[in-house]
Amino acid sequence: MASVYIETFGCQMNEADSRYIAERASSAGYTIAGRPEEANVLVLNTCTVRDNAERRAYGRMNHFKALKDADPALKLVVMGCLAEQDRDRMRQAAPHVDAIFGTSELVRLGDTLREWSASFEHTELSEERALVFPLGGAADCVTDGFSHLRGYVTVQRGCSYYCTFCIVPHVRGRFDHRPMGDVLAEARERIAEGAREVTLVGQTVNAYEDPATGEDFGDLCKAVAALPGLERLTFISPHPKDFTEKIVRDLSGVPQLNPRMHLPLQSGSDRVLRRMNRKYTMEQFRERVAAIHRYLPQWAITTDIIVGFPGESDEDFERTLDYVKTGVFANAYMFVYSQRRGTPAASWELVAEAVASARFKRLAEAQNAASRAHHDRKIGTTVRCLVQGPSKKDRSKLAAKTLDNVTVIAPAPPEYLATREPWIDVEIDAAHVWGCSGTILRRCARYDS
Ligand code: SF4
Repeated sequence: MASVYIETFGCQMNEADSRYIAERASSAGYTIAGRPEEANVLVLNTCTVRDNAERRAYGRMNHFKALKDADPALKLVVMGCLAEQDRDRMRQAAPHVDAIFGTSELVRLGDTLREWSASFEHTELSEERALVFPLGGAADCVTDGFSHLRGYVTVQRGCSYYCTFCIVPHVRGRFDHRPMGDVLAEARERIAEGAREVTLVGQTVNAYEDPATGEDFGDLCKAVAALPGLERLTFISPHPKDFTEKIVRDLSGVPQLNPRMHLPLQSGSDRVLRRMNRKYTMEQFRERVAAIHRYLPQWAITTDIIVGFPGESDEDFERTLDYVKTGVFANAYMFVYSQRRGTPAASWELVAEAVASARFKRLAEAQNAASRAHHDRKIGTTVRCLVQGPSKKDRSKLAAKTLDNVTVIAPAPPEYLATREPWIDVEIDAAHVWGCSGTILRRCARYDS
């Protein structure tokens, strides 16, 4: 039987695309391999959002070349944003890649996998592969052990906001919202396949608008929550500008929603926000946060922040730092600005590297203290978590996520079967910057059991 290995870089949109390809591959008769050494087809789903992601993707293509050299029957496919943006350069830099599919060519990739599947029917994996060192160093890959517990459903593609640092609108195009009926049908499928948590995915998910009826993101969440069998619902990633009071109020009436909100701030300075074309001021951001606290008081707010954006002055940075020091964010993804080819900010003068790194260090210290305080508050409590899989550092332990998205590590019970009991109640006995650790008290088949 043919097998496919899918490795994903980047955002949840890419994860959703990888899931789609995994499903198309499964229905074409492939098994999903957990390691590249075991597959007939390798699919690399790439990201361009940061220079580092781009370099890692090219590095990974080179790793895979060793496998292709050992077994020329192996097919290597590159998909995703880098494939869209860099097609020509990629053909020259990595001529061993068999096929390249951009972000709008997922269906064609699924069709191609189906066409190829017959050719692998009688193919044994070459023994020469054994001579290749295990590749390791993998990014997130789709495996079939635990990943079905979380179902990703794309509600919209592209983005029309053109933040000056972001490549997404240039490679994925403008907003293209899916009809609500299609989103509901796909969510139903994920639930039927065993998803315990459905994540609605969009680059600017709360700008969602049904193309026919104009129903908004609040309406969509209510409709998905009404699907029989849904245990938990969450979404990624909203834009502060699009949280109308009506939407926040709607969310407060959906008990299945996980109490977490990822609200990307990017900068705490109005001047920088304007240069970023973020379409909100700090005052408006604070208003959104106040509305979340008012309607969704138990929710944890997380964020993204860019440090050293071109033109960021000491004063601009201090505003970001002051806001983070208020402890408003339970967690933050923080980055030093990195230029993206093809975006307006790429031609702007950079903040000196040493200045940006020093700022980053101060910001990380402030946020780490806030994250640690958020985790400290869980000590002594028992939290219900959805299992993710074995801990990467110690496979005798399980990694899981709380409803507010905090990582929890606990020793795995003997003969644990995630498909039967994916929910675990963990008594938290220690907190760290990265999350919490504890002891499993109970295992459950359903969230509400
Ligand atoms: S809102 Fe801005 S950062 Fe987010 S995807 Fe759209 S352009 Fe990119």
